[in-house]
Amino acid sequence: MEMVANREQAVQALQKIGRTLYERGLVNGAEGNISLRAVDGTVYISARGSRLGELRPEDVAHITTAGQAVEPGPEPTSEYLLHTLVYESCPELRVVLHTHSAYATAVAVNRENVPPLIDEMTILLGGGIDVAPYAPPGTPELARGAAQGLRERKGVLLANHGAVVGGTDPADALKLAELVEQACRVFLLAKGGGTVHAIPAQAIHRQREIYQRKRGR
Ligand SMILES: [Zn+2]
Repeated sequence: MEMVANREQAVQALQKIGRTLYERGLVNGAEGNISLRAVDGTVYISARGSRLGELRPEDVAHITTAGQAVEPGPEPTSEYLLHTLVYESCPELRVVLHTHSAYATAVAVNRENVPPLIDEMTILLGGGIDVAPYAPPGTPELARGAAQGLRERKGVLLANHGAVVGGTDPADALKLAELVEQACRVFLLAKGGGTVHAIPAQAIHRQREIYQRKRGR
């Protein structure tokens, strides 16, 4: 994508992401929060209590990765630490999406790591989807769990809470949010029906190489 350089571009990109998440059933009401990192390193992020399906320009906060306001505006989401810590830990990631989508949250409640079950998982996410330990919403512990998870893979589950994905651009991040939900859905369905077989190790190794290349490392 072209890098976001000003507020107008950031608002447009976040509105499009929010609408898409809503249309695909990944967020409801005031659930979830989204952000992107601009070319100058600052972060545009959905405001506390905003509805992602109908994000207004005044629902976008502008902060540094230290959490300071860059310009007057609304308060960022109470989960802003989760976003800023990911950006500080992963220089290649530019978009962070946090959802409470149903299947991802269900697996997060089971607290079972999802092994690579479908080929896209390793190529796009970097492998399986792990569950970060439980921490209350808005806490530094929750943010650390998310950032640690995203250093290794591009998606992670937060125990009893939801999912976080980090993309190199909006399209990448949206695809990852859908893939995490789909993988969790398949995982639960497969588990209900019998044995869960992961993809063979050799195939995962090849897919992992593609992942590293696509992620830009
Ligand atoms: Zn949340």
